[in-house]
Amino acid sequence: MRGSDALEGENRMRYRRLGRTGLEVSEIGVGCEWLEHKSPEEVEAIIGRCRELGMNVLDCWMSDPRVRTMLGDAIAADRERWIVQGHIGSTWQDGQYKRTRDVEACKRAFEDQLERFHTDYIDLGMIHYVDSPEEFESILDNSPYLAYIRELKASGAIRAVGLSTHNPVVGLRAVESGEVDMIMFSVNPAYDMKPASDNVDDLFGEYGDDITGMDAQRLEFYRAAERADIGLTVMKTFAGGRLLDAARSPFGVALTPAQCIHYALTRPAVSSVLIGYSSPEQVGESAAYEDATSDERDYASVLADAPMHAVSGLCTYCGHCAPCTMGIDIASVNKFYDLAEIQVAQGGPVPELVADHYAALEVHADECIACGVCEPNCPFGVPIIERMEAAAELFG
Ligand code: SF4
Ligand code: SF4
Repeated sequence: MRGSDALEGENRMRYRRLGRTGLEVSEIGVGCEWLEHKSPEEVEAIIGRCRELGMNVLDCWMSDPRVRTMLGDAIAADRERWIVQGHIGSTWQDGQYKRTRDVEACKRAFEDQLERFHTDYIDLGMIHYVDSPEEFESILDNSPYLAYIRELKASGAIRAVGLSTHNPVVGLRAVESGEVDMIMFSVNPAYDMKPASDNVDDLFGEYGDDITGMDAQRLEFYRAAERADIGLTVMKTFAGGRLLDAARSPFGVALTPAQCIHYALTRPAVSSVLIGYSSPEQVGESAAYEDATSDERDYASVLADAPMHAVSGLCTYCGHCAPCTMGIDIASVNKFYDLAEIQVAQGGPVPELVADHYAALEVHADECIACGVCEPNCPFGVPIIERMEAAAELFG
């Protein structure tokens, strides 16, 4: 999956073939989860900057009609140049995101996306978020949901079938199943490592057969994908921003965006990293990878001596825990809590801006009734009930 150069705008963006889909995707693309609380003008500016810098692939897993409309409008003028990753099974019900395999609900949500994106096709139609091997088997077992996805592909409404997962076991099964053409997978050095007892010096050498520190199932998955010509797009490149912040990184040191991007782009089968941006400046920071020197990209020497602990239990703000019984936006509460807690731990007050964002949420953490419905939906084992209690206390 080596790339080709192309000069576009002011940056030298490289493009890679996305496995057997045959599509040429920019090696840095757009994940849109940070756009939900932006204005249409802000979304337009961010997407405009992505376009200028040569990005051509974007993921919209969100079902929120507002963000879909903003994104659809932002790419309407040049829809054909964008490779859109849309998710079948991400639906909007009672004002909240809900993951479902119910075909009628999936159809409504898919048609809604087409309408809001001013289009009649989605390039990469994703089997949305499956982390449970059992659930994936039930999908593969001639489910109506799978039949719907095959039907979409046969009609051209989706051009290729994808899967989004954080679990290498599910990823491997997907590769073997022959049902999918590409996969979106979470890739960063934190998730890829074995527990803290491993010798990190062994983990970051040349990528090859001699690697002993990487989780064996992940390695097997990456290799199988490469062998089967299943291209990967990447989510969680920065582990929810945590790898960029020494205080929150499981390695105890901060990595730069270029180092994290380089890590992901040097895994087998990876074609593109899809990064969430909060501002046009952040788009430029990630795209600067294209012009970075090999020293600037070098993650190995930074991580080699870093202390490491497990990442389990850390929120990446992915939103998969929704819907909450009480309507709490759990990912946003966790994000605001983390932002505030860093300052408070250093003896400062809760930052005013963060307090304002928290106050603007429709439902607050203190309304959590500890029903526990959300916790099994979290791929990272976050103790959500505890976090809601802590957030309620922090924000008063
Ligand atoms: S435990 Fe709390 S946050 Fe989780 S679904 Fe129930 S009310 Fe919502
Ligand atoms: S609690 Fe878990 S599922 Fe919810 S946003 Fe955080 S990491 Fe994602």
